[in-house]
Amino acid sequence: MTLIQRAALQMSITLSLLAALSCSVMAGVQGLTVASPPAIDQEVELQGRVVCLPERMHQLYDTELEPNHQHVYGFQTSDGQLLLLLRTKYSEALFLDERVRAKELRLKGRIFPKSHIFEVTRTRSVRNGKVFDLYYYCSVCSIETVSPGPCACCQGPVELTERPLKERSKH
Ligand SMILES: [Zn+2]
Ligand SMILES: [Zn+2]
Repeated sequence: MTLIQRAALQMSITLSLLAALSCSVMAGVQGLTVASPPAIDQEVELQGRVVCLPERMHQLYDTELEPNHQHVYGFQTSDGQLLLLLRTKYSEALFLDERVRAKELRLKGRIFPKSHIFEVTRTRSVRNGKVFDLYYYCSVCSIETVSPGPCACCQGPVELTERPLKERSKH
């Protein structure tokens, strides 16, 4: 085999390898397209209370419960549905503030298809049949925030605040 012939052979091997590689890359992309998640349903607004799911399962179905378990927070709707709470900026207060967990809540958000995972986008509280906006407030900066703090502006403490819904609609 001459040098030129050998070079040509190597070249053709490289080319066919490249072709095979790009084929499999394309197949991979197509596979992803097929497996893309189903469309998300519309937003829901649900009333209920935050519960610890392992504790709730223990109460309901007598599952084993480790006394020193790490709480797994979920939301039990007033009709008894149990949802797992996704922790995001907007649901942070439910995980960090037991005063919020103690309240009857009205949560707005999305439940992902083929799951019971609830992404909360807005938290309101309900007391004596009245609905309140629930947020944190820094009186130094006059800033409202969804997170229990510290204040993003002055790093000072923020106050949990409830405001009747009607007050806001007057603005
Ligand atoms: Zn727990
Ligand atoms: Zn502040």
